[in-house]
Amino acid sequence: MQGTILSIGNELLIGKTINTNLSIIAKTLYAMGIEVNQALCVKDDVHSIHQALSQIDDAFIIITGGLGPTPDDLTKEAVCAFYGLELTLHQKSLKRIKDTFKTMHKTMDNSNLKQAYFPKSAIVLNNDNGTAPGAIFQVGHQTIVLLPGPPTELMPMLEPVKTYLLEHLDFEVFHGGYLVVGIGESEMEHQLEGFYNAHKDVLIAPYAGLGEIQYIFTSKDEMALKNALKAFHKRFRDVIVGPYDTPLEHIVVQALQAQNKTISFAESCTGGLLAGRLINVPGVSHVFNESYVLYSDNAKIKRLGVHQSIIDQFGAVSNQCVYELSYQLAQRTGADISVSVSGIAGPDGGTKDKPVGTVFFGITHEGRTKTMHHIFVGDRQMIRQKAVAFALNLVIKTLT
Ligand code: ATP
Ligand code: MG
Repeated sequence: MQGTILSIGNELLIGKTINTNLSIIAKTLYAMGIEVNQALCVKDDVHSIHQALSQIDDAFIIITGGLGPTPDDLTKEAVCAFYGLELTLHQKSLKRIKDTFKTMHKTMDNSNLKQAYFPKSAIVLNNDNGTAPGAIFQVGHQTIVLLPGPPTELMPMLEPVKTYLLEHLDFEVFHGGYLVVGIGESEMEHQLEGFYNAHKDVLIAPYAGLGEIQYIFTSKDEMALKNALKAFHKRFRDVIVGPYDTPLEHIVVQALQAQNKTISFAESCTGGLLAGRLINVPGVSHVFNESYVLYSDNAKIKRLGVHQSIIDQFGAVSNQCVYELSYQLAQRTGADISVSVSGIAGPDGGTKDKPVGTVFFGITHEGRTKTMHHIFVGDRQMIRQKAVAFALNLVIKTLT
């Protein structure tokens, strides 16, 4: 089964919006073993949409964008006109849209009415984060999927799409995989030489993030998949932190919750990214109370009592400084685990001894403080994100 992803939006074609929906959908389908044949991108314009649809003969077409209430949002109307499908009012959607406005203490505008119209045969997909429902319907041999443009609305709506496609696939696909942290992608690929060949019936796709890599395994052969996963786990157990579809910060929070422990951070170069990442996790308040962003030397001295002499002698980016930061943090917050991060994110500030990308970490746990450093490669943002992944991995390693 092959499909097309059709992205619709003027903003995509003027470079204002990056087509992240394409990558999210392609990645989701690839992980399911479903092949995307082509990706097209056209304007919010009836003629352009019709021209695109006339070229596509694939088994399914996933169309994103242009489901909003404004006159420039005309995807659904254009698509249905192309296939000769009549739009009728879908009462349940109308109620949901009205309820959405009610919770915002607003009344629904008449322009939103069109968002509740669908072809009679359509499966309507609820949108929990916006007013534009999506839809799945069959036209001849083709499955058409309509999804809204905003990624936060689209992403949760991919779940029912996945279920639908899996039910309508002519084969069963099995998948699994791991999240790997603390090793670079090229080092992993080097170590995986031969592994791919030994597991030919399994599609193994690495998705490298900043400081973390998802390895997603897909196969039509359940036994082959199990064997490959087992072999991968045996070989890489030191760098595997969890299943591929559990974000790193969730794994950290789960580990803290399981041990009933709290955590706190003193962040310099990461500037709150570490705390922010942990706070992505709902229910984090059970394990997280407070955190510091201590960017200047003076803040480190004033807030956590780092000695001026340490800064003078070793610098703020040093084992001694992160030791002091995490030790003092533990004293003041009473957190079970305290982590400190201080580094040179660049582009300036590097020296021969401490080049740009050098980041020191301190961790205090059960009365013991350990320090370490790592040199990360990349620009300022990449270094900061990689340092966050490193620190979260450090917490996992400390807890297990
Ligand atoms: P809305 O109700 O918000 O208007 P919509 O379904 O009409 O939803 P669009 O108007 O096409 O969606 O897009 C809304 C916003 O979603 C765009 O401004 C853009 O920021 C984002 N967006 C649209 N398409 C994509 C895409 N392919 N990738 C990433 N973001 C997108
Ligand atoms: Mg819109």
